[in-house]
Amino acid sequence: MEKLKMAYHYGADAVFLGGKMFNLRAGSHNFSDEELKEAVDYAHEMGKRVYVALNVIPHNNELELLPDYVIYLEKIGVDGVIVADLGVFQVVRENTDLAISVSTQASNTNWRSVKMWKDLGARRVVLAREISLDNIAEIRAKVPDIELEVFVHGAMCMSISGRCLLSNYMTGRDANRGDCAQSCRWKYSVVEETRPGEYMPVYEDEHGTYIFNSKDLCTIEIIDKILDLGVDSLKIEGRMKGIYYVSNAVKMYREAVDKYNSGEYEYNPKWLEEIKSTSNRSYTQGFYNGQPGEEANNYNDRNSYSQTHQLVAKIEEKLGENEYLLAIRNRVVTGETLEIITPIGDPRVITLPKMTLVTKGKDEEVEFANPNSFVKVIIEGGFEAMDMIRRKM
Ligand code: SF4
Repeated sequence: MEKLKMAYHYGADAVFLGGKMFNLRAGSHNFSDEELKEAVDYAHEMGKRVYVALNVIPHNNELELLPDYVIYLEKIGVDGVIVADLGVFQVVRENTDLAISVSTQASNTNWRSVKMWKDLGARRVVLAREISLDNIAEIRAKVPDIELEVFVHGAMCMSISGRCLLSNYMTGRDANRGDCAQSCRWKYSVVEETRPGEYMPVYEDEHGTYIFNSKDLCTIEIIDKILDLGVDSLKIEGRMKGIYYVSNAVKMYREAVDKYNSGEYEYNPKWLEEIKSTSNRSYTQGFYNGQPGEEANNYNDRNSYSQTHQLVAKIEEKLGENEYLLAIRNRVVTGETLEIITPIGDPRVITLPKMTLVTKGKDEEVEFANPNSFVKVIIEGGFEAMDMIRRKM
């Protein structure tokens, strides 16, 4: 719920989320039925939309509960569902009038399959990530009367999105039920079969070999070219990510899209710089410029993450003119130079003033605050709840 609110606050028009069933977000604290209703009411009050992911590839025994579930989703007013499987598509069609988006898991790479989904009654198709901008242009031209959505940012699979049993085989965690352990990003060695337990490292370079290890997708540098194609929706993948990552990515793409829509588009290098400030595994433009080869440097040569900034607190509540309640996410010390991020505009530099720790007993003035604590501070500058405070690392 917190991530949903932050995504809207920083400029998202809609959020795709997972309920407790039938989605690919098994590990990311999904929404109960009551929370789903709360999310829908919250979104609609802000003029935003909520789509519910039903994009598992189910087996027979998983279908029984589906009709009642989709009827419930329609009753609480969700704006649409996202499906990958024809059977699920039919259950939604037979039981509701919900708008249906076809998931990227359905691997739509050509105009014929997009047209087929349109003829079946889909409102939108989320195109496969494994597709070039030229192919998107052709699909748009040949099937003009369906909404198209493209991924612009987030994790990539080393297989065709989600069509992979690596995690399932190695850990029993099923990628097609949203529980992928991301086994493709692990470090692999060679074992000779008569010497079990002797792991011989394979060195591609000084970091090792990460043969299955894709970089993350980032299209901010070509966002104008994507918008030129006339697509209807841009998707940022934020599954399992923190609020800083989600908010910051949404803010940068929002700014770029608004600039494009103003008719005075000019690429701003700050967008990429800011995107790199949150946790990432190096970026690629994936398949959009054609088949990624050596040159596109599509795989990552290590399995670590990098970032230039760290979230230290979120403004939980505005208590008075310049007084705020901060939810501390990483240890902070009075006197530190920090930056406050707001939905619009550049980060603003502050020196962290004295803090008052909020406790169950008597509040006390403190020099430092630890994660999961709440402090009150006085900061001038007109900030709001959900603004974030970060430090340069
Ligand atoms: S193991 Fe890697 S390639 Fe396979 S589904 Fe998970 S993220 Fe995708």
